[in-house]
Formats: sequence, C-alpha cells, structure tokens
Amino acid sequence: MTAQATKQERASQLEVLATEAAACTACELADSRTNVVFGYGDPDADLMIVGEGPGQREDEQGLPFVGRSGQLLDQLLDEIDLRREDNVYIGNVVKCRPPGNRDPRQTEIDSCKDYLRQQLRLVDPKVVVTLGNFSSKLLLRTETGITRLRGRAFQWWGRFLVPTFHPAAALRGSASVLADMRTDFQLVADVVAGRLVYEPAQDASGSEPTAQSPPTDEPASQMGLFS
Ligand code: SF4
Repeated sequence: MTAQATKQERASQLEVLATEAAACTACELADSRTNVVFGYGDPDADLMIVGEGPGQREDEQGLPFVGRSGQLLDQLLDEIDLRREDNVYIGNVVKCRPPGNRDPRQTEIDSCKDYLRQQLRLVDPKVVVTLGNFSSKLLLRTETGITRLRGRAFQWWGRFLVPTFHPAAALRGSASVLADMRTDFQLVADVVAGRLVYEPAQDASGSEPTAQSPPTDEPASQMGLFS
C-alpha cells in the first residue's frame, strides 16, 4: 500500500483479506472456531491495537474485544479521545480462538501472521499497542515480560510500539495495573498528537530519550513477524 492509498482503497483491501480469512483452514484452530475474528475499526487509523487471539465472546460474535475487557479498552481509548470506529483499528495475533483460551502455538502463529502483517501494512498506523505479554513479546522479539516492557514507546518498523497490560489483567488485578495502563495510553496520545517524534538514529543512551529501540539484538529484517 502506498502512502497515497485512499481510506476507501485500504478498506477494500482489508475487506478482501477478511473474506479470505473467513474461509481460512491453514491451521487447526479452524476446526473449533465459530467465527474468524479478523479485525475491526478505521482502515486509516493512527492507532492499531494487537491482542493475542479471540476469546469465547469474540468467537461467538466475530468481533475483537467484546465483553468486559473490550469495555475497559473502550474506556481507556475514550480517556485519550479515541474510539474504535474512529482512528483505531483492533486485531489479534491469531484470528481464530484457541480452545480453552490457551496460548496460540508457534505453528498457528506462523500460519496466521501474514494476515497481521497485511493489516499493519494497509492500516499503516503511527503507533501499535500490544496488549499483554503474548503479543508484546512476540512483536518485540523479546523474552522480557510486560511488567518490565511497559511504560515505554519503542521505535518499531518506522512507527512506535507501546506495550501495555491486557485489560483482563486490570479487571482481575490491583488498581495499579489500571493506573499503569492509563500512563501507557497517555504515551499513545502523545504519539497520535505528534508530541513524540520518531528518530531512527536515536539510541537509548541519548540524552533524556523519550523513545527506545526494541529490546532485541536482531536486526529488523530478521524479526519473526515479518520474516
Ligand atoms: S488462526 Fe489464522 S491461520 Fe489459523 S485458521 Fe484461523 S485465520 Fe487461518
């Protein structure tokens, strides 16, 4: 997708991909799903949110982040003046529900990753937010857990990536988890408003860095999601 692609062109291509995914049987998750949960939101969004995979309600409805986690996510977005229909696109690492909400397996991620890659390419957001350990560690190619990763905006593939907790963790955790998520979403607001500037040459040892490179020794071209 070129920078000149219109919103309508992005929407059309996402629709084609969604139709393709709806019939996908590339991994065993196809056997137990009710619906493929491809993604939802503004095809021209500044913010793309990436979760792990659909849960039971998402599988039933075919939409990402419905239920209590979705309500909390909507609240956090509203607090920074964003809405999922407007300047936000929401997707998952895998598009079909892992049975029993287990973690997706590597073979399933490998089978599904091109959909996420295409979503990122088409939406071309300024900032990606990864929710929870799974998608954060996967996209940043790190074993570092979300508690240590969060609170920062990483420079990632020409855009920012802000890892934060999964809303479910805030719902079952202490008030500090929700407070941390609010801090992270403020970083998102800073990127969307242009207050955080992408600086490819910047490194974490610079003076008062506001963004950091991903915590990986691997060059970007070897990042698993895009390999
Ligand atoms: S999880 Fe992804 S690769 Fe597997 S069947 Fe669903 S859409 Fe296809």
